[in-house]
Amino acid sequence: MKMMILKQGSNERFARRSVSGRMMVLKKEEIYIGPLVLVNREHPIQKEFTRSVRLMPFNDNYRDILLDTKTNALLSLLLKSVGVNDEIVPVSGYRTSIEQRMIYYKSLIKNGRVFTEKFVALPDHSEHRTGFAIDLAQNSDAIDFICPDFPYTGICGAFRQKAADYGFIERYPKGREAITGIAHEPWHFRFVGYPHSKIMQNNDLTLEEYILFIKDYPYDRKHFRICEKSKEIEVFYVKARPETTEVILSEDTCYQISGNNVDGFIVTIWR
Ligand SMILES: [Zn+2]
Repeated sequence: MKMMILKQGSNERFARRSVSGRMMVLKKEEIYIGPLVLVNREHPIQKEFTRSVRLMPFNDNYRDILLDTKTNALLSLLLKSVGVNDEIVPVSGYRTSIEQRMIYYKSLIKNGRVFTEKFVALPDHSEHRTGFAIDLAQNSDAIDFICPDFPYTGICGAFRQKAADYGFIERYPKGREAITGIAHEPWHFRFVGYPHSKIMQNNDLTLEEYILFIKDYPYDRKHFRICEKSKEIEVFYVKARPETTEVILSEDTCYQISGNNVDGFIVTIWR
């Protein structure tokens, strides 16, 4: 599981056994790239991200549903670990700007403005533009495209229990509508990567709240730590400087750096 996280990703920086005190130089535009990007009403997806997207089909039966390659690999492992055959099916993954716009305007005509603004994000503000988001449904003959049924019981409940172990969060939980700007969506899952998914779950945080939470653990002060078996994982925030940002990481560490799509970077180190 941990080793999978350390694999080379298309839109993340990874390295093993960095040399002693290696300096990383991060460009300003890299804050818009990585699995922890916050995409919501205030923070649209940026062109730097769209250029970095690497997609693949969910599987041979759903070739039109595309996801970020790593998101798809971990989602398959998660579904396998829960013992899913076809009880859970994908409804919607990656969407182009045009597809998102079509969904938005079709919903406006069919469901009206109040419903649409609750459940459908504007084109550049939708997580479905990232390839990290997937809408899932409990398999049935009649699946609603906008609001699929994905209950908290049965195999869907089992999926939820394991989701954070594989880097997924339920992105729009009940009671957090004022924070996320989106109504409760039990069917929408977002890949953020482990251990961030677990930290969010343990501390009951939405992605909006996690981006703020981790700022309390800046580069030059105490870092957030989580212990897993024999591994210690450290997470901290680095504020982006106007041009480039330098981060020095100690030797022999595995690390990941993701932009937050707001103002800086989140660094994860495995020891
Ligand atoms: Zn969705």
